Amino acid sequence: MADVRNLIIIGSGPAGFTAAIYASRANLAPLLFEGLTKGGQPGGQLMLTTDVENYPGFPDGILGPELMELFRKQAARFGTELVREDVTEVDFSKRPFRVTAAGKDYEAKAVILATGASANWINIPSEKVLQGHGVSACATCDGFFFKGKEVVVVGGGDSAVEEGTFLTKFAARVTIVHRRDALRASKIMQERAFGNKKIDFIWNAVVEEIKDPAQKKVTGVVLKNVKTGGLFEKKCDGVFVAIGHTPNTELFKGRIELDEKGYVRVHNGTGTSVEGVFACGDAMDYKYRQAVTAAGTGCMAALDAEKFLEAQYA
Ligand SMILES: Cc1cc2nc3c(=O)[nH]c(=O)nc-3n(C[C@H](O)[C@H](O)[C@H](O)COP(=O)(O)OP(=O)(O)OC[C@H]3O[C@@H](n4cnc5c(N)ncnc54)[C@H](O)[C@@H]3O)c2cc1C
Repeated sequence: MADVRNLIIIGSGPAGFTAAIYASRANLAPLLFEGLTKGGQPGGQLMLTTDVENYPGFPDGILGPELMELFRKQAARFGTELVREDVTEVDFSKRPFRVTAAGKDYEAKAVILATGASANWINIPSEKVLQGHGVSACATCDGFFFKGKEVVVVGGGDSAVEEGTFLTKFAARVTIVHRRDALRASKIMQERAFGNKKIDFIWNAVVEEIKDPAQKKVTGVVLKNVKTGGLFEKKCDGVFVAIGHTPNTELFKGRIELDEKGYVRVHNGTGTSVEGVFACGDAMDYKYRQAVTAAGTGCMAALDAEKFLEAQYA
């Protein structure tokens, strides 16, 4: 049992690093896999944004990557061992649990899953260049930056309509661009959107290009009518991509109970279907999806893991 760790944490977003800060300060000497390619990159989703203005403690705001560097430093300061690799396999069928990364097996008495989620993107080059410069996947996070501006929301489901409606609090005009001729959103959401004078719709259209990467800001979108193939341009100051999220939980399929959308099912705080395995952040939360809530549940997972270890192994 010499090589069996107390705790392995998978994921280096706000949830994983917060769990690491608490666990390392509780002398659990956690090992944290930061991820490399799967589900994004070390530091998680905030690495994709510029200004974060709603994380408490930073009254002047902070850049997403800077904030994540601070999380990382704080976790390392108390003795978290950081490994910049993807976890490629897990075995939770018996204890100690086994986690595999870069072809090497690691064993632990408890595991925290903090692999987050990935926003679904359109996947065009201009979108990537302009992420954090007018292109976003989070209206709650970035809507405030579009006071009095014109924005385009891409999508037609509940999240697009919800984001579009939310954005009317700030934007002068919101245009929802949908590839079909009717929304997929629930009836009540649709009625709310149709009744909102600030919301327009462009049907049967997809975004071909976002302008203007050369200026490092959004000036408009090039749309394609999917019925005619015709291209046309729409001026705007921001683009919100609202075509859903995918939890980074593929790895846990069949190993742990997931809900129908793939999010880890939790009970009693952060407990999962396997005793000793805990989950936090966007990997289990499809509702709030904020850095501060991810950090909050990361703290909960560390405290739950600590209690579990005390009860089982003390
Ligand atoms: C564009 C954008 C802007 C945003 N702006 C804000 C904002 O201003 N304020 C705010 O509060 N929230 C914001 N959010 C939301 C916020 O980023 C998330 O809610 C938060 O990052 C979730 O944290 P997490 O730790 O659960 O997961 P994530 O941040 O998604 O991190 C998950 C981590 O797990 C790692 N991982 C995944 N799979 C593996 C694996 N197999 N092995 C090892 N590691 C793995 C990934 O590499 C990543 O490091 C924004 C999101 C986006 C997309």
